[in-house]
Amino acid sequence: MDALAGVVGQELRKRIILRMYEGGKIPPAILICGSEGVGLRALAVEISKLLLCERDTPPCGDCRSCRLAIRGEHPDILYLLPLPAGERAKRLDWVKQLLSNPYLPVMFTVPASITIDDIRFLEEQIQLTPAFGGRKLAVIFDAHRMTPEAQNAFLKTLEEPPDYAHIILTTPYPDRLFETIVSRTQRFFLGRLSSREIKEYLESRTDATESQIELVSHLSEGSLGRAFLLLDREYFSARKRMLDLFLSLLRSPEDTVLLEVVQLFQNTRDKKLVSNFFAVSRSVLNDIVLYQRTGEAKFIVNIDRKDEIVEVAHLLPAEKVEEYIRVLDEKMSFLERNPNLQVLVFDFIFRLAGRDL
Ligand SMILES: [Zn+2]
Repeated sequence: MDALAGVVGQELRKRIILRMYEGGKIPPAILICGSEGVGLRALAVEISKLLLCERDTPPCGDCRSCRLAIRGEHPDILYLLPLPAGERAKRLDWVKQLLSNPYLPVMFTVPASITIDDIRFLEEQIQLTPAFGGRKLAVIFDAHRMTPEAQNAFLKTLEEPPDYAHIILTTPYPDRLFETIVSRTQRFFLGRLSSREIKEYLESRTDATESQIELVSHLSEGSLGRAFLLLDREYFSARKRMLDLFLSLLRSPEDTVLLEVVQLFQNTRDKKLVSNFFAVSRSVLNDIVLYQRTGEAKFIVNIDRKDEIVEVAHLLPAEKVEEYIRVLDEKMSFLERNPNLQVLVFDFIFRLAGRDL
């Protein structure tokens, strides 16, 4: 069995970590960063197993410690993740869901954060003597979602951790952490996966068809997490409908098309639906810009709709496409602020169609 097998690719980083482990030099505080879905959480889990495994060839994945770590039940590992206020009591359930596929983010429709109470709990737990062996771990997923008060409290833990403790943070946004936190950690940066790595993994671990895998490995932009989202059957058919609508809008924004978009988002409170629609639209606009600038269809990531994208790219003036992207990026940035979703989508499509709302 490969060492650190729970992490796809990232061979160089894995070798460095194993060498550190063999030399007894795994740092007490680690910050794992890189894009969402490339293995940040997976690596944090593997390092935890590595440090607590009870066999000679760690992490074996099979001893008592490894099995408890994978299930989120190890008494010497505390996992924290951002949760909405109403879900805090169910932390362990969410941890288990996250660990069942660390490549997929746990998403909520309401704001989720790591609070000062979470950090106080961590501080309490880490001061307790290890239950099994010599070490104790605290793992904070999406550490950038710590509130400023939480970061302040956490800084104190980082300054004087017990000598048996290791702390691991993961985040795609290290710049949202206090500089004083970042400077006290050893940073590991994980790069994007190659489309070959994603393809091979999906071929061996999922029952997706060859053409689905081909498409998804292109669309996922080096993120296995995104590849999983794209493979989801519901998402796949939703994506098709969104692409149909968005491409029709770009080709000829007639009333019937507008009406269909209005119907799709009428009464929606589903931020994920809107966010997916914007993401699909953004990737089509990207494809169009790249094609217009290079004249080459090989850069198009929505390969299943290549012909239509080329057609629209010939139809639309480049300035128009730039303007659409500007409007869309603005709408996407509003999405984080819990806006009225209908107003946001309708404003976007009506501006695209050149009409007043
Ligand atoms: Zn083990």
